[in-house]
Formats: sequence, structure tokens, C-alpha cells
Amino acid sequence: AAKGDGRGLHRFYQQEMLAGAQSRKVLEDDLRQALVQNQLHVAYQPLVATSDARIVGYEALLRWEHPIRGGISPADFIPIAEECGMIETLGEWVMRTACHDAAQWPDHVRVAVNVSPIQFANPALPSIVANALASSGIAPDRLELEITEGVFLNETASSDAMFASLKGLGVRLSLDDFGTGYSSLGYLRKAPFDKIKIDQSFVRGAAIAGNRNAAIIKAIVTLADTLGMETTAEGVETQDEIALIRELGCSHIQGWVYGKAMRAEIVLEVLQAGGQARLVGHRTSR
Ligand code: C2E
Ligand code: MG
Ligand code: MG
Ligand code: MG
Repeated sequence: AAKGDGRGLHRFYQQEMLAGAQSRKVLEDDLRQALVQNQLHVAYQPLVATSDARIVGYEALLRWEHPIRGGISPADFIPIAEECGMIETLGEWVMRTACHDAAQWPDHVRVAVNVSPIQFANPALPSIVANALASSGIAPDRLELEITEGVFLNETASSDAMFASLKGLGVRLSLDDFGTGYSSLGYLRKAPFDKIKIDQSFVRGAAIAGNRNAAIIKAIVTLADTLGMETTAEGVETQDEIALIRELGCSHIQGWVYGKAMRAEIVLEVLQAGGQARLVGHRTSR
């Protein structure tokens, strides 16, 4: 910008930053109240087998209904919870709630819980997971922990030990949002993942002719197959995308085409009705 604009621009940004910091602080204070005031709930999005459209599990996704602001996205409040240290409390609550809800489901239906890199760095995580399993009574292999590449950023010898003790509990491990971060192939060699979740940015547009994403998905699936890992395509929104994902060989599908995350009561109704995933809407193409 021209030099003359500089000061005005600077002042503008200062005000913006202050407003941002203030609203962040307000949000942080509100979040501390949210749990005790029952504003949080865990919603569940179906994980569907590509082969026969059976629901094989659900991903637990945290939801916050703010009394004034309405629904706030976890993409907005999880980072705040991570920075202000609240993620430990929230994460443990989600873990216990998800295991407790899954205890009402048929035994073949798993539950997937997101684990923040901050939780992963806490040596108490295995005992928190073990307690959630024990108090709910679900079999350990019904619980999938979704971990992002973020856990590898400040990698230490203790992350190897953490992987080993989580595997020792008998839970399953998924590598979430694969392809968005550094996606080092070394992660796949070192960590005992059962599943790779291919980030939705690769699914976007993959069904359009000539799009390179399909080739990338194919390569990830080939790699996962060779390593004995399952694959979930995230963010599948259309029937064209289902067809393509099936062709590319992903074992599982997650996306709005089979439904958004829903309340535990609705999940129970769907499972009691047979647990077959149904197409939502009739969109064919983006
Ligand atoms: P994620 O773990 O990758 O979860 C999948 C996200 O994709 C969810 O967003 C889901 O609603 C969204 N999604 C699923 N299908 C579609 C689709 O077809 N189209 C589009 N556009 N989006 C789709 P959500 O619920 O907003 O959560 C965002 C992120 O927040 C999650 O990404 C996860 O990283 C984090 N998160 C949510 N709940 C928790 C939690 O309990 N603990 C932690 N640590 N993180 C959480
Ligand atoms: Mg996830
Ligand atoms: Mg994901
Ligand atoms: Mg994501």
C-alpha cells in the first residue's frame, strides 16, 4: 500500500485484531460454561461400507448450540479449546459420551472419536480411553481413534510409546484428513493405523472428467491396500462421487450423501430400522 495509507491501515488492523481477541475471549469464557450448561452434544455421522451401503460405524462430532449465537462449528471452537487447555476436559467428555452411546448399538457398529494432538501428547490418554471403554462396556475394537498428522509435528519418542499403548488397549487407529498436511509416507510406516481417511478436498471434483484427484485417491487406496489398511473417502456429497469412490476401491464412504451428523436418538432409530444407509437428496453432480 502507498505510504500515506499505512497509518490508517495499521489502525484498522489493530482494531480488527482487538475485536478478534475480545470476541475470542468471550467465546473462550462461554465455552467454559457450555459443558455444565448442557449446550454441547455429540452428533454422529454414518460411516458406510462401499460394497453394500451398510452402516458400519459412526463418527462422533462435537456440536455446540450457543444460546445467543446458535450453532458454532467445531472448526471454530476446537482450536480455542486447544489453546486454552479445555480440550482435555471436552475430549474426555466426548470419549465417554460416544462409548456410552455406542453401547446401545449393535455389536458390529463402531464409533470413531477425534483425538486432538494435545490429548495425544498427554500420557494419561490410554487410561482415559481404558476408563471410557470399561464404564461403557463396549469391546475395544469397536472404538476408533481418529488422529491427524498434527500429532507428528512435535514428534518425540513418546509418540511411538503412545501409539503402542493405544494399540495395546485393542482400539483401532485412523489417520484423519490424510493428504492435507505434510502427508509424509513415513507416518504410514511408523504408526500402526488401521484406516486412512482421505480428506474431502480430494473427493471434491474427483468425479469430474480429467480431474487429477481421482488419480491421487487411487494411489492412496493402492498404498493402503498394500499396507493392509482400510480407506474412508470423506465428504462424499453426490451419487456420482459414490460411483467413483466405489470404482477407485475405497472400502468406506462418509458424507452428506448418506447424511450429516445426527443426534444419538436418531441414530438408534436408524439402527433399529436395520442400519442400511440411505441416500439423502438426489443430487448427481456438483
Ligand atoms: P473431521 O474429523 O475431519 O470430521 C469430518 C468433518 O467433515 C465434519 O465437520 C463433518 O460434518 C464434515 N463433513 C462430513 N461429510 C461432509 C460432506 O459431504 N461435505 C462437507 N462439506 N463436509 C462434510 P465438523 O463436524 O464441522 O467438524 C470439523 C472438524 O472439527 C472435524 O473434522 C474435527 O477435526 C473437529 N472435531 C469435531 N468434533 C471433534 C471432537 O470431539 N474432538 C476433536 N478433537 N475434534 C473434533
Ligand atoms: Mg475425524
Ligand atoms: Mg476428517
Ligand atoms: Mg477434517
